[in-house]
Amino acid sequence: MTTDCLFCKIIAREIPAEIVHETDSTLAFRDINPQAPTHVVVIPKTHHANAAALAATDPLLAGAVLRAAGEVAQAEGIVESGYRQVFNTGAGAGQSVFHVHCHVLGGRPLSWPPG
Ligand code: AMP
Ligand code: ZN
Repeated sequence: MTTDCLFCKIIAREIPAEIVHETDSTLAFRDINPQAPTHVVVIPKTHHANAAALAATDPLLAGAVLRAAGEVAQAEGIVESGYRQVFNTGAGAGQSVFHVHCHVLGGRPLSWPPG
C-alpha cells in the first residue's frame, strides 16, 4: 500500500466504496461522482501511477484490469448498448487519483470525440 493513496485505502477497506467486482488482483467500485448511469472504476490491487507504468511493470496485471472491466460491463448490462473504457493519464487529461484506474462508462449515449 502506498501511503496517502485514496485507492490503496479503498483496497485496504480503510475508506468505504460500493464494490461491484473483485478478483485476486483487481477491485471495481462505483465512482462517487458518476458521469453516466453506469460509472465503475476498475483498479489493480497494487499501486502503479498510470496505465503506461502498469503495462511496463506488470503486463499480466494490465490484462487482468481489462478483463475485469469487460466483466463489469457484462454484469452491468451495457455491452449491447455500448460502453467506454477510459484511462486518464496526467493532470492535464483529468487524472486526479494517481493509482491507475479504468473508468467503465455506459448506460447512455456517449459522444465522440469526448471533448
Ligand atoms: P480520475 O479523475 O481519472 O483520476 O478519476 C478519479 C475518479 O475517482 C473520479 O471520477 C472520482 O469521482 C473518483 N473518486 C474519487 N474519490 C472516490 C471515492 N472515495 N470513491 C469512489 N470514487 C471516487
Ligand atoms: Zn494506490
